[in-house]
Amino acid sequence: MSGCYAILVAAGRGTRLPGEVPKQYRAIGGEPILRRSARAFAAHPAIAGVRVVIHADDRALYDRAVEGLAILPPVEGGATRQESVRNGLESLAELAPDSVMIHDAARPFVAPSSIAAARDALERAAGAIVAIPVYDSLKRASGGTLAAVDRKDLWRAQTPQAFRYAEIRAAHRAAVGRDLSDDAAVAEAAGLALELAPGSEDNFKITTEEDIARAERLLAARPMQPRTGMGFDVHAFGPGDHVWLCGVKLPFERGLVGHSDADVGLHALTDAILGALADGDIGAHFSDRDPRWKGARSEIFLKHAVELVRARGGRVLHLDLTLICEQPRIRPHHGAMVARVADIAGLEANRVSVKATTTEKLGFTGRREGIAGQAVATILLPDA
Ligand code: MG
Repeated sequence: MSGCYAILVAAGRGTRLPGEVPKQYRAIGGEPILRRSARAFAAHPAIAGVRVVIHADDRALYDRAVEGLAILPPVEGGATRQESVRNGLESLAELAPDSVMIHDAARPFVAPSSIAAARDALERAAGAIVAIPVYDSLKRASGGTLAAVDRKDLWRAQTPQAFRYAEIRAAHRAAVGRDLSDDAAVAEAAGLALELAPGSEDNFKITTEEDIARAERLLAARPMQPRTGMGFDVHAFGPGDHVWLCGVKLPFERGLVGHSDADVGLHALTDAILGALADGDIGAHFSDRDPRWKGARSEIFLKHAVELVRARGGRVLHLDLTLICEQPRIRPHHGAMVARVADIAGLEANRVSVKATTTEKLGFTGRREGIAGQAVATILLPDA
């Protein structure tokens, strides 16, 4: 037996227009909903691993959405949510989980405290469901009449719902052919006693366009702190017929010497973001003794730094870079460099600045021995 695994159900189609992306792959705050949900569980100390159940048609969307996250490979779902959960459960058999948490991928704002509460409640009961009380008055409308319904003792069930693995798998197997509303209902049908764990209003399921707007408002309203970081890098000229600067290949009579592609622009930008995160430097994340980075395209360094910001719930606001050299001439490539950096960092082009200067023939750049880059990154991070 080994730990608690999360199953994220992301196989739904919803009712949508042809060509439209399923809701769980829509971006909120610049990131797919599924990525946010998967990361909430992957980052939680109570969770040993994350399995996402997807629709067969969504594999490419899925791969893009979770790129770089340390989670298990996905499995395909079935025709109904219940079938999808069962596939997810069966797929975990070889990992022998002692418990599982089943979660709707379309609930990206699940709080770490709710995951912990579900785990704790599972110590006392056969199953635990995250839920919130009903505060609105309830009415039953039928046959042209309205009748009040007592809301006392009524709760709105959310996810995650936590169970011991063997019990919920047996319950799902027994429920094949029956149409039950959620995993709690499957568990109840098998006679398992459940307990409630506190959820939150923010842990809503994104279903409608109104929900997308609510999610954007929620993200925009989180208290954030600005952070600024600087980066500086130098590479010497050597033999070659081109240089990489800001992810753009410039034909030139010499090359730049380095372990990777020696892109001083992207290296300075990467270090600026790492500086804003107070998370070491590019050498600490990508050692120049590691053969994996020999000849590597430096865009992976910048992408990684941006992902570290996102993983902490933050975002990059602005990048400003100055390239310092007598040659090659930067100006003709300025637009391409801005566009390329913006693309790599996932930013609008008006949040990226690339400037160039000489040192009036002074110093090593003036003697045309190499190129220097210096950068400033401004980011927002959630209040700690
Ligand atoms: Mg460098």
